[in-house]
Order: sequence, then C-alpha cells, then structure tokens
Amino acid sequence: MTNSKLHIYNSHSGKKELFVPIHQNFVGLYVCGPTVYNYVHLGNCRTFISFDMVYRYLLHLGYKVRYVRNITDVGHLENDADEGEDKIAKKARLEQVEPMEIVQKYTLDFHDVLRQFNNHAPSIEPTATGHIIEQIEMIKTILENGYAYEVNGSVYFDVNKYNEKFPYGELSGRKIEDLIAGTRDLDGQDEKRNSLDFALWKNASPEHIMKWPSPWGIGFPGWHLECSAMSTKYLGETFDIHGGGMDLKFPHHECEIAQGCASTGKSPVNYWMHGNMLTLNGKKMSKSTGNTLLPNELFNGGSDLLERGYHPMVVRFFTMQAHYRSTLDFTSEALNATEKGYEKLMDAIKELETLTTSANSSVNVNGLVSSFYDAMNDDFNAPILVANLFETVKIINTIKEGKATITQADLELLTKEVNAFVFDVLGLAPLNSAGDDSKLEGVMDLVLNLRQQARENKDWGTSDKIRDGLAAAGLVVKDGKDGTTWK
Ligand code: AMP
Ligand code: ZN
Repeated sequence: MTNSKLHIYNSHSGKKELFVPIHQNFVGLYVCGPTVYNYVHLGNCRTFISFDMVYRYLLHLGYKVRYVRNITDVGHLENDADEGEDKIAKKARLEQVEPMEIVQKYTLDFHDVLRQFNNHAPSIEPTATGHIIEQIEMIKTILENGYAYEVNGSVYFDVNKYNEKFPYGELSGRKIEDLIAGTRDLDGQDEKRNSLDFALWKNASPEHIMKWPSPWGIGFPGWHLECSAMSTKYLGETFDIHGGGMDLKFPHHECEIAQGCASTGKSPVNYWMHGNMLTLNGKKMSKSTGNTLLPNELFNGGSDLLERGYHPMVVRFFTMQAHYRSTLDFTSEALNATEKGYEKLMDAIKELETLTTSANSSVNVNGLVSSFYDAMNDDFNAPILVANLFETVKIINTIKEGKATITQADLELLTKEVNAFVFDVLGLAPLNSAGDDSKLEGVMDLVLNLRQQARENKDWGTSDKIRDGLAAAGLVVKDGKDGTTWK
C-alpha cells in the first residue's frame, strides 16, 4: 500500500492532520447529496466537483474507496419548527404532481449535470425514502439510550441531556449557552422541551403526502437523521471522511455527530471536510435568494450574466482555481482567463508526444512530479497543483524550442504523471476529444463555410450565433490573417 503523506484539514479539530484510514487500504467517504426539489445550481456543483477531486486523488493514491453520496428525497423541512413543510412535498403540492415526480425530475438533472462535469458516480447513492426502516431503528436506539423524547407522535433529540455527556457544538465551535441565547423562547405551545432540540421523527397530519408507519404513529423522518442512518449502514459506526458544503456544518453535521454519539457512544467521523461557497456578485449562490446560475445556462450562454457559453471542462477547471476551503467568486472574466489557460495546458500535453529526447535531462522532472504530489498531499491544494502544471507547460515549451533537454525515461515519467494529474485527479478532459474524427472535420468545414458566407453578407448576427453555438459545444473558432481555424 502506498505510504501516503496526505494531510487533510479536519474541520473538527481545526488542524491539518496526517490522513490515517481506519482500515489500511480502504477509505469510507460520505458526502451529503442534494435535496432534489430544484435544478442543481453552480454553487452545489462546486461542492460536488471538489469532493469528486478528493475521491479521485484517494483513488490515485491507490486506496479502495467506498464513496457514498445520498439523495435527500424526504425530510428536509423548510425550518425545524412545528409548521415547517417538507421542501419536496411543498413543490409537489404547488405543481400538483406526485412528490416522486419532483424527485425523479431533479435527480435526473443532477446526474446529467455532474456527468457533463466529468464527475465519477459515487459507489452508492442511497435515498432517504429507501432507508426509512434504518432511520426508525436508529431513533429507537437513541430513545432507549435516553437522548430523545416522544411528544404527540413526534420524536425530538434532547440536546440538553446529550450535552451533559457529550459536547454539543464542538464541530462548529459553538457553545450551547450562546446557541440557546440565539434562539427564540418556546412559547409553551411548542412540543420541544428546548429550542435547540431537533426533530428525529415528525408526526404527519392527514393531508401530508409523504408518510410512513412507525412505533410513534404515521409520520416522516427529520432531515439530519438520513445521513446518520445511511452512513452507518454503508460505512460503519465510525468511518473515515465526511464532506459537504460549509453551510451544512451547523446544524446538519453537528446533529449527525450528536445522533452518532447518542446511538453508539462514539463519534461517527474521523475527518470532517467542508467546502467553501461559490459566490456570485459577492454573495453566496443560493436557491432561496435566487442569486443563482444554472450549469446549463452557463454551457449554452443562455444567461443575462454571460455573453456566451463555456465548455463544462472550462467551468470545472475554473473551480480548481481556488482551494476548496476558500470562497470562489464567479465572473465571466475569470472564465475567459481559465479558457485560455485550459487551451495552453491541453496544447502542452499534446506537445509531450512530439518532443525529441536527448542523452541528458537539463530539467528536473522528479522535482516537478514531487511538486504535484506535494500540492495534493497538502489538503488537496488543487490551485497549487495547477500552478505547478503551468510551470511544467513552460518547461515543455523550452524543450520544444531546443533551449532545454530531456531523456526518454524522464519524458515517459513526465507524460505519465502530467496525464494522471490532469485527467485522473483533476478530472479534466480534452475540450475536443473528437478532434481526430474525420466526420467532425467535414461538419466543421461546412459550418465554417456557412459562417464565412454570413460574414461576407455582413450578417454578423448569424456569424456570431454560429461561433457562440460552437463555443458552447466546446469548439473554439479563431479568425486570423490566414483564415478561420477551430479547436
Ligand atoms: P442542498 O441541495 O441545498 O442541500 O445543497 C447541496 C450541497 O451544495 C451542500 O453540500 C451545500 O453545502 C452545497 N452548496 C449550496 N450552496 C453552495 C454554494 N453557493 N457554493 C458551494 N456549495 C454550495
Ligand atoms: Zn447530510
């Protein structure tokens, strides 16, 4: 097994720690998936791309990884108060369709978008509705252990009782007294004993559509419970890595720790990882505020925010320009710069195949390759890896110009590692992977001829439309002195 030097910033301890998996070769990775009641936005995608990169690097290091990412298809309430409505049930009511039609539509969109971003599928993608029995079993255990109470067919987690034995709030660095001070007083009408208590099971009113029988009557599970039940089922009572966006740290992940400790006495996760937010106009991209950009609008240029479309690989590369724990602001200028960089990188990779070798190397290939590993071993520092890859691009160009030399063995090593880090670890792909396809050449000749005719007729609208449509398909057209070329 690889002697890994991987360090992970653990949100729980607030420190970078050497990664030591529970089982030598095997890594259990759980990432909170989407609540499928709406189209997935680019912010959500950033988090899922970041964890795809984490998954890919663990695989690259030689680990066998079981990557579990759930689908929340029930239980995510708009708020945890008694009147909070399930997000999926609400959408189904508004659109007058079955909740499972909502779930199906947005799950398909989620898969389609992540496939375009070249994300690997997780090893298991369990749904909350598919694990009601496991959730009920976990509630029973928490009740038996004395950390929950039942009221009118609902079950709530008793945060005060829990806090006597385990520190509630340690993941998000909150103190229970401050948390209590920050919540509204219960007015005597509430079922909860304490405003911090959260629902494990909610009693369903007769008109509620998604509901199941339980020992406490007909109802549905609370949101935090599904991740605890499914991660325990597929990864064990304590597993290696749990990830999600920063905004899930509290209360969602804090409650997952509480549920785990309350049912098994052990903390469920060894390394907590949290990705930072994608911002748009300086504010968090979010469904609830409408400050969003949908991936498909970005691919086809169909948003007022953009002048044209961008290839999904350029957008993926853009997300690698910031460390996963830093915020990343979306702008079309940044995307334009990323697109140029992408082409440079891909051109250099092609050049690797044509370089002439020498008896000696004047370039330090081992040093370059180590720099790739050092970057990723330092808490998956993709932007540093990208900077090191661009350093490599410069060196490839110097060798090409005859200003530096490389041996056959060094060239083979460099080619192997650059390809591995660019395609396997960062998960990028050539923009025009069908570039050698003679049929595509024929189609492009025809399309560019039509565009040329439009230009001769001064029909700039049509000419631009063709160029933008091609760009959205990942085909970049350039008009130069010697005519029009495409990549
Ligand atoms: P949701 O479907 O709202 O539960 O979100 C799915 C995932 O996307 C969670 O891990 C969130 O933390 C993450 N997320 C939501 N908004 C953003 C954002 N603006 N930037 C990055 N990740 C986000
Ligand atoms: Zn979760």
